[in-house]
Amino acid sequence: MKDQIQTKRERSLEEDNQSFFWIKSEGQEKLATENMVPGNQVYKEKLIIKRNVEYRLWDPFRSKLAASIMNELDYFPFENKTKVLYLGASTGTTVSHISDIIGPNGIIFAVEHASRVARDFLDRVASFRSNIMPILQDARKPKEYFSVFGKVDVVYVDIAQPDQTKIAIENCEMFLKKGGYLFLVIKTRSIDVTKDPKRIVTEEIEKLKTKFEVLQSIDLHPYDKDHAMVIAKYRN
Ligand code: SAM
Repeated sequence: MKDQIQTKRERSLEEDNQSFFWIKSEGQEKLATENMVPGNQVYKEKLIIKRNVEYRLWDPFRSKLAASIMNELDYFPFENKTKVLYLGASTGTTVSHISDIIGPNGIIFAVEHASRVARDFLDRVASFRSNIMPILQDARKPKEYFSVFGKVDVVYVDIAQPDQTKIAIENCEMFLKKGGYLFLVIKTRSIDVTKDPKRIVTEEIEKLKTKFEVLQSIDLHPYDKDHAMVIAKYRN
């Protein structure tokens, strides 16, 4: 039925945005992406078939990008063919949904430094998806990502390190196109447990301002405690 799959039509998310969907499940509208690899689950998420298309529910308690959408994200530069550099791929929960969204003609360069986690990511996610290029590297050494080619549209950073804003800026300087977007997850407790979380977010945002226009900062509560998502545009 037509009313069961809808794009969210609100705020500045474009009316015809088909990057993600709202699907009725267990009496609630839930976020989902169209499964690029039908039948394949990544984190035991529910698969739902509607009108012969398979969707994967996208859990905001497991993905900070989904949590940002739930908390009124205004900018969504992920679409068919988008090129993404993703730092902190972990076992690939969020990477897999971005992979669904950008489709076979997009690419996501997924950096992860922990070899055991990266092995799991390879076995369960990257090996099934042609648009993921896994990179087993330290995000502090962007010069060593030999497989990244050209500039990307979006740099997504979720590495929970005290110096992550500096790392994010260095990666953007090397790989983000002018006018491209940075999505930076700030885990305040990994920066300083003793400081007020709001002050930490403000201080991290200040570090971005010389090179970026900061567009939005989203508190990820109740999905993630003491986390914010900052969205910024790389100056032309
Ligand atoms: N973004 C993931 C998701 O939404 O599914 C969760 C990321 S988890 C919070 C942080 C990840 O960053 C961990 O897997 C960790 O090993 C990785 N990481 C931390 N420091 C890193 C570094 N310097 N270079 C690359 N990866 C790093």
